[in-house]
Amino acid sequence: MNIILMGPPGAGKGTQARFLVEERGMVQLSTGDMLRAARSSGTEMGKIVADVMDRGDLVTDEIVIGLIREQIEIGKGNGFIFDGFPRTLAQADALAELLEATGLTLDSVIEMEVDDEALVARITARSTCGACGEVYNDATKPQPADGECSNCGASDFQRRADDNEDALRNRLMEYYKKTSPLLGYYYAKGMLQKVDGLGEIDTVKAGISNVLG
Ligand code: ADP
Ligand code: ZN
Repeated sequence: MNIILMGPPGAGKGTQARFLVEERGMVQLSTGDMLRAARSSGTEMGKIVADVMDRGDLVTDEIVIGLIREQIEIGKGNGFIFDGFPRTLAQADALAELLEATGLTLDSVIEMEVDDEALVARITARSTCGACGEVYNDATKPQPADGECSNCGASDFQRRADDNEDALRNRLMEYYKKTSPLLGYYYAKGMLQKVDGLGEIDTVKAGISNVLG
């Protein structure tokens, strides 16, 4: 099964993708994570995308499509979760072509619905473990008092450079201008399924399970 998780920044796509990886053996393809990895390893591409990302603008279609193509070619595991991709109609078309060329199908597009007020609150409170990617939130899931990640024990909590109000406003604008039209696109293809993303993490998780069967 291959699925797309869609929703604005902070909707909880990454958190839910991790569950699908753990429980179903799916492979998470997060273009955001790939781009951040390119930045921290200091590749040419990482240097090109750094400022763009920090402003909250979209990286070029060419770059992200290239990243996704490489990963699809590497292998499918128990299905792909596309997380943060596609974000433009050109990316959606490229994905359709890549899947077709590989003999894969897209089974579901899940929209995680949240309201904009909640997003700002979530994102400005967010941090992650630099070692394993576990996500923390100052209000709902604070970093453990002993300073060690509850998942892997590392002590390397990080906040993203683009998790500030200005960059977030820009990310939201990019989402509404360029990405939200994809909801109509997948709806018209009969693939869109909506899940309420505002509840507790476990409730959202159950909602997604319910949709995927
Ligand atoms: P978010 O929390 O905003 O969903 P991501 O981790 O998915 O964040 O992406 C972070 C940034 O990486 C985006 O703001 C954008 O600059 C870049 N990026 C990630 N995926 C894409 C994509 N598919 N197309 C263009 N830019 C992307
Ligand atoms: Zn960790």
